[in-house]
Order: sequence, then C-alpha cells, then structure tokens
Amino acid sequence: MAAPVAAAGRAIRRTPPWRGPSRRPLSSASPPPRAAAVRAAFLSFFRDRHGHRLVPSASVRPRGDPSLLFVNAGMNQFKPIFLGTVDPRSEMAGFRRVANSQKCVRAGGRHSDLEDVGRDLSHHTFFEMLGNWAFGGEYFKEEACSMAWELLTQVCGIPEERLWVSYFSGDPKVGLDPDLESRDIWLRLGVPASRVLSFGPQENFWEMGDTGPCGPCTEIHYDLAGGVGTPELVELWNLVFMQHNREADGSLQPLPQRHVDTGMGLERLVAVLQGRRSTYDTDLFSPLLSAIHQGCGAPPYLGRVGAADEGRTDTAYRVVADHIRTLSVCIADGVSPGMSGAPLVLRRILRRAVRFSSEVLRAPPGFLGSLVPVVVETLGDAYPELQKNSAQAFRASVQIASLVSEDEAAFLASLQRGRRIIDRTVRRLGPSDVFPAEVAWSLSLSGNLGLPLDLVELMLEEKGVQLDSAGLAQLAQEEAQRRAQQAEPIQEQGLQLDVHALGELQRRGVPPTDDSPKYSYSLQPGGGYEFGTCEAQVLQLYTEDGRAVASVGEGQRCGLLLDRTNFYAEQGGQASDRGYLVRVEQQDVLFPVARAQVCGGFILHEAVAPECLKVGDQVQLHVDKAWRLSCMEKHTAIHLLNWALRQALGPGTEQRGSHLNPEHLRLDVATQAPLTPEQLQAVEGIVQEAVGQDEAVYMEEVALACTAHVPGLRSLDEIYPDPVRVVSVGVPVAQALDPASQAALQTSVELCCGTHLLRTGAVGDLVIVGERQLTKGTTRLLAITGEQAQQAREVGQSLAQEVEAAAERLSRGSRDVVEAQRLSKDMGRLTDAVDTAMMPQWQRRQLQATLKVLQRRANTAIRKLEVGQAAQKTQELLRRHSEGPLIVDTVSTESLSVLVKVVRQLCEQVPSTSVLLLSPQPQGHVLCACQVAQSVSPAFTAEAWALAVCSHMGGKAWGSRVVAQGTGSTADLEAALSTARAYALNQL
Ligand code: ATP
Ligand code: MG
Repeated sequence: MAAPVAAAGRAIRRTPPWRGPSRRPLSSASPPPRAAAVRAAFLSFFRDRHGHRLVPSASVRPRGDPSLLFVNAGMNQFKPIFLGTVDPRSEMAGFRRVANSQKCVRAGGRHSDLEDVGRDLSHHTFFEMLGNWAFGGEYFKEEACSMAWELLTQVCGIPEERLWVSYFSGDPKVGLDPDLESRDIWLRLGVPASRVLSFGPQENFWEMGDTGPCGPCTEIHYDLAGGVGTPELVELWNLVFMQHNREADGSLQPLPQRHVDTGMGLERLVAVLQGRRSTYDTDLFSPLLSAIHQGCGAPPYLGRVGAADEGRTDTAYRVVADHIRTLSVCIADGVSPGMSGAPLVLRRILRRAVRFSSEVLRAPPGFLGSLVPVVVETLGDAYPELQKNSAQAFRASVQIASLVSEDEAAFLASLQRGRRIIDRTVRRLGPSDVFPAEVAWSLSLSGNLGLPLDLVELMLEEKGVQLDSAGLAQLAQEEAQRRAQQAEPIQEQGLQLDVHALGELQRRGVPPTDDSPKYSYSLQPGGGYEFGTCEAQVLQLYTEDGRAVASVGEGQRCGLLLDRTNFYAEQGGQASDRGYLVRVEQQDVLFPVARAQVCGGFILHEAVAPECLKVGDQVQLHVDKAWRLSCMEKHTAIHLLNWALRQALGPGTEQRGSHLNPEHLRLDVATQAPLTPEQLQAVEGIVQEAVGQDEAVYMEEVALACTAHVPGLRSLDEIYPDPVRVVSVGVPVAQALDPASQAALQTSVELCCGTHLLRTGAVGDLVIVGERQLTKGTTRLLAITGEQAQQAREVGQSLAQEVEAAAERLSRGSRDVVEAQRLSKDMGRLTDAVDTAMMPQWQRRQLQATLKVLQRRANTAIRKLEVGQAAQKTQELLRRHSEGPLIVDTVSTESLSVLVKVVRQLCEQVPSTSVLLLSPQPQGHVLCACQVAQSVSPAFTAEAWALAVCSHMGGKAWGSRVVAQGTGSTADLEAALSTARAYALNQL
C-alpha cells in the first residue's frame, strides 16, 4: 500500500473549473454524454484551456517503424521527437504541447490484447487513445497531473473518491529512486494517501524499447466498486514522464530534454461517464451489438462473462463487435488481411470474427460485411479516412465490406471442413489422449485450411480436449526453419520418381499429368481471384523411398500421381504450390500436400496420408490460395523487373536465373558492372509505372514456331514445349507476336509457363532490397512487392530523415566532447541500421555513402575537441605544479581519451616529469592515465604504475612501458592519489 506521507508542501493552485462548450461538466449532463462529446471535450479542454495544438490521429499502419506491426499508442507518431531524430525543418520539430485522439491496434507483436478480447469488459484490439504531450520540458509532472485531475474531476465530474493513483516505487537494483515528486503532487492535489499506491518498474516505469527514452509513469485508476468494500480498479490514464535515456550498455542517463506522454482509453472513460461497468455497454458499441442481434437473430446481448456466459453468446457478441471495428479501421488505413506481418494478424482477426459470428451467433453468410457501415457510422466523424465524403464513404464501406465478405466466404468453407475434421479426430481419441499436433497443424494458417491456431485451440477447449502443444511448437519451429532456408533456398530434393518408376509408367502407357487446371482462375469484380477446383483420380502411390504401392496408410509420407492436377509444380523459378486434398467420398480427412514436382511430365504430389489412400481413389484438390496468389504477384513482378532492366541497362540485358516464392523474388542478370543507385532507382520507377497503369496481362499457348523471329521476345536458353505459353503485358499475345508490331520491344513479352496475375495493379509496388555481385558479370537482385515493398520504402524514408537530422546536428557543431562522442556513436548505430534494414537498395547505397562522410567528420570533430580540451587542462596543471620529477593530480573530464592526451601533452612540455592523472566520474567511477619520463629507470613502467593505482581502486589497467591507462572505482580519491605518489617515489 502507499507509504504514509504527510500531505505537506506547497498547495497546488487549483484552476477554476473549466466549462466545456456546454458550460456544464460532462457528468451533470442528462442523459449521460455520448462518446463523441467525451472525445470532443477532452480535445477542447487541452486546446482551449491549456493551449495545446490538436493533431490528427496517425494511420494505424506504422510509418517507417519496422519494430511495430500496428500503431499501438498515441506516442508512436512522436517517436522522432523523443529520439531526437526529428527533422529540424519539419512541422513536428516545432511541436511543444499537443493533444489528440489516436487510433490504436493492440493485436500483434509485443503489444497484443487479442487474447483478452471477448473474455473481459475493458480490452479491445482497436481502441482510441486520448493523449496530451509536452515536448522538450514545455511542462512536466506537476502540470500534467493537475491537468489530468482537473479534466477528470471538474470537466468530467468524476467523484474524487472513485479515483486512485499510482506512482513509481523506485528500483534499487539499477539505482532508480522512487518518484516522490509525483506522489507529492497527488497528495497536494488532495488525493488521500490511502489512495496513492506505489509499484515497481513492471507497472510504473515505461520504456520505449531496449534502448532509448524512458521514465517513471503515474497512473489514474477508477474504482468500479463505487468506493465501498474492496476496490475494483480499472486503469484509465497513464502519464509517462520521460526523463532518462536507456543507453546501449543498459545504463540510464538523464535525457537532454524531458517530455510528458499520456494516454487514456476513450472507451473506458466513456464507460465511466455513462455509468457502465463495461466498454461494450456504451454508445461506441451498442449500435454494433444491436446490429449483430438483428442480423443474426441470436438472443440479445446480456453482458455475461466467463462461466456465466452460457453458450458463449455474449463473448461472441464482443469478439465480433471488437473485430469488425479493427478490420474496418485497418482496411481503411490500407492494411488488408494477407500472408505475413500485420496483414496476417488481420487475417487471423477476420477468421476469428467469422467463426464466432457463424458458429455461435449463427450469422448468415456475408453478415460481417454488413456491419462495416455501422462502424463507419460510429467512428466516421472522428476519423474522416473512414468516411471522407458521402460518396467515398459509400465506396469505402462497399470495398471494405466486399473484402471482408470475400475472405469470409472462403473461410466459412474451411471452417466447416475444419469442424468436421476436429469432430472426427476427437471421436477417435481415448479419454486421456491429447489432440494430435499434426492434425491441428494441418488445420492452421501455416498448414492448409487457414484456421488460426488460437481458433483451433478454442474449438478444442469447447470440447474439453487438450492439444498437444509441445508437438505443435515443434512443428512451428520446423516451419520457421524451412522458411528461413527459403530465403536462400537450399534445394532439398524431395520425393522423386527414379528411372525405373518412370520407365514403368511409360511401359504402362500412363499419360503425362494434365496440369492445365493450374491456369484456371479468374479475376472477380471485387478484385479478388477465384481459383477453380479440380477432381482427379489416384493413378499411382509411392512410398518415401520411391517404391510404387497400391495404398498408403496412416501417417505415411508418400508420393501421389494423379491423372490431373491444379497444383503448380516447381518450375521456371516459381515455387511449387502447396495445399491439401480430400477423398471425394470422405471430405473430412485432409491430406496435406507440401509440394508438387515434375518428373518426366508426371507431377508427383508430396503428401502425408492421415488415413488409408488407395490407387483408384477419387480426390478433390485444394490449392493454398494466399500462397499461390503471392507467387503470381511475384512472377508478374519478375517479368516487369526484367523489362525494366532492359529499359534501363540496354536491350541486351540477359537474365541468368530467377526464383520466387510468396515472400520475395530473386533475379540474376548479366551486367557489365554493379548497378548504380540511379540505375536501381530508375528500374524501380519503370516497374512502378507499369503497375500504376494496371495493365492487362495476356497469356496464350502458341506454336513454338510463331515465336521464333519476334524481335524483343524474351526467352531463356531452355528447351520450350511446343506449343508454348507466351505472357505479354498490355498487348494481346497475337498482336505481340506479330513481327510487324514491334510490340515485344515496347513491353514485356516472355515465353513462360508460370502463373501470373491477370492485371499488373495487384503487384502493388516493387522494391529492390538487395543487390550483389554473384560472380563477375552477374548481379543478383532481391526484391519484394506489395505492402512489404511499401513498408520498405517507409523504412528507407525514415532512415533518410534520421541521417539528415544527424547531419544537421553535426553541422551545428558541438563544444562538448561527450556530446560529440554521442553523435559519433549515433552515426555508428545508424550505419548498422542502414546496413541491415529492409529498404530500397539505391537508398541504402546513398545513405551508406553519406554516413561514411559524416562518421569521418564526427571523428575529426571529436579529435579536435579533445586536443583543445587537453591543451587547456595541460596549461592549468602546469600552472599548479612547479617543475619536479612527478605530477600526480586529478583532472575533470568525462573522456579517457582526453585524459590520455593531457598526460601526453604534459610530458611533451616537461620531459623529465612522470605524470599520473585521475579523473573522478559519477558514482565513484575513476579514469586513470599515466606516462613515465624517458629518464626513469627501466624498472619503473607506466603499465605497472597504472596497475598499482587501478587495482587499489578495484579496477584494471593496460598499456606499455611508457604510457598506460585504466579505470577503477573508489570513494576515497585521496587514498588513490597517495598510492600513486608512493609507488612512483619508491621507483624514482
Ligand atoms: P491495461 O493494464 O489495462 O492493459 P495498459 O497498461 O496496457 O492497460 P497503457 O499502455 O498505459 O495501458 O495505455 C494507456 C491507456 O490506454 C490505458 O490506461 C487504458 O485506458 C487504455 N488501454 C490500453 N489498452 C487498451 C485496450 N486493449 N483496450 C482499450 N483500452 C486500452
Ligand atoms: Mg495492456
């Protein structure tokens, strides 16, 4: 509990109660204030009463910050101010006191509340954070606390006795004192000591990351229990006081500029002001809950939690309402459900929402999309990007709704299948058996059906069945390893048909596999792709060691030969498809297919058979669509890249090889020399243009002979089938092949058997993130597309800004060695970041060159400052010491290198004197440097001298016979100096 403290001290001046536009405290308004009024009151309080500038919410998609999946706090957009990297010419550099309401998503990465959503009444994956900031010491603890208190108790009219506060209790381990300043401020504001609690670093010390600005925080909590009995506290507002900097070595240093950073959840404040115990019982959620009730015909929402929530109806209401808000906001900000990173998190969220709405609430198909307009209605005024103007809002909500519905439909099918598989597997389990990891994996997003693992777990939990979590972790790790390897693919052989198997197939007259269904897909009006299904017959089965068998059994890895397939088998540099198959007469057993390979015209599917499968069985094949679509994007992107390279480097630029998978693409090209940053940039520009034009991609099979004399047509030194497929961008194939048209000189036309997008727009963007010489004359380019590419551009942009800000700081010059050293260190850190970041390669090269120059300049500046400082200190010492054989003294400097220079300069000026200098540092730390005169006996060495003194101080020393340095720690500097003198006198 809080330490008993005398509420003494200066009384804080209480400002007269502020009145909002209504001239009434919010709480006395009747009926209770609506959320929009609460949001507006917060903002106008800080703007009108306390002179804050209001800034709009940043997008939930972090700009140039790869450490975040989503924006998760109001401070995210101000990070450059805290880090001191803000461009001095930017608008932000002028921010002193600002306030806003920020869209936040806490659903993935370090900060995820996804697991709590639905289960409790106060956490959301999307919420609005109200915040106020004071930068550069504009104001600090006292003003921040009293403004918060004034807002809550006077503007909002919350009874003081329902509010509790907490402050930082200190951390003796790292020498951090308790934040008594904050405690005393609260006491002076009239909070009784019994409601002022203190907590350790876990709760009340805030850090941005492993390094960087940090500081104690103080929190304001609201007592739901109404001030009687045991308090039931919910956190309302967190006030962070950034005053330290966590250095790379883990130590804390005072920050040159202090800042205030606060955040309060709007939903929670609204619940308090509307007299509710749950954020879901406010007007931010009630329109959604009633739309769900109407749309699903489920029993009305009753707000029950835990065991009381029979059938989990209320949990489902909450999950659906929460998730549709998150989805709408994210999609409006340009993050759509997808394959990795933030998009993957959204995909999980969408699938959870579909699952709860369809299974628990029995929602009709397409239902989720119908909730989007309700979200736009409740949040559109505050966040105009959800609703720019009415026509756009309509379009945006239709677009969001159709995106949601498209994925919803696909997922519902998987869900049904998943449920059947779970039921079936569970029926076969013994009473104490755990649910097999392989089955869960095959159902999961990383496996085949695309069900998020946490969903699978939930479904099992409902059945009271435990999952084999250890086995699952193992599988996840294996997958991660496989993915890591794919970055530079080590060609694992996989199952192959050997000559005997192939000979046998030919002898039997088995025709080559018909894989034409792999090309059967179409573009839907909403922009999504629909892939056709494929039914086939099992022609032959193979064991792992290549033996032909008539059937395979439980758990067996096997090769499968079918008469037809829609799987793309690895070829032409495009990664194989993956997916699963089921037997036509038994849909609820999945046979995961990890890859497909071509061997002599036969396509061998590599699968694991959970159950018996026999030659002659009829199966249905399902390709992993997200995987395939990513491959299609990359493949079309490679063609555009190839075309762009020829434009930029000359028509003779030959491709040497290429590879693509859903993550990235790789292209090896013959080049005279490495590409210059300008060339790289030009190439990207050409690709971007083609993408921006959203050109049609044409594919057609033609007789090989027709392709023989087409100028510009790109083909590889390969044997092509006849007929051969031609892929052309923007021009129909027949026209492209007409020798008179010269089209192939003006656009990308290639012989290619890969699967491509039907329009270039879906490539989104292309960024070359790596370029290196593979062998002399061959350049390997690594590129990414779409969302990932845009993120890379943002990372590049923000690093460029940091470099610029560093250059600016450098050109301002510094008079202080420590400051100059910090700048040089920052330069080193920036260099590391630029070397390794996922960013445009052309920009990396430019920044690397700039940083090299800056680093050199920073080091020169340090040397100059050190020499100057040393000269000054040398003169001071010379004035203090009359000539003699020995100078032992202290010098104040924070830099060992300056100390060494002073010693050296002294010895130059009085060559017959031996010198040892100590320099005390904070916390008893001591620096030491010494040099012995040339005339001394060989037994008197600088190294031994420094060692004698430093080991006396419990430290260490190093150096040579003539000069040495060291460090130690002591509270008694005089004793150390005496040791130094005694040692030297003994030797002289
Ligand atoms: P909690 O302990 O309740 O999870 P927190 O410590 O994670 O809160 P902060 O990171 O300090 O919260 O965020 C500032 C404020 O934002 C909180 O005081 C709270 O009002 C609100 N908040 C935080 N997380 C959520 C969430 N998931 N949903 C709604 N509001 C939230
Ligand atoms: Mg939290």
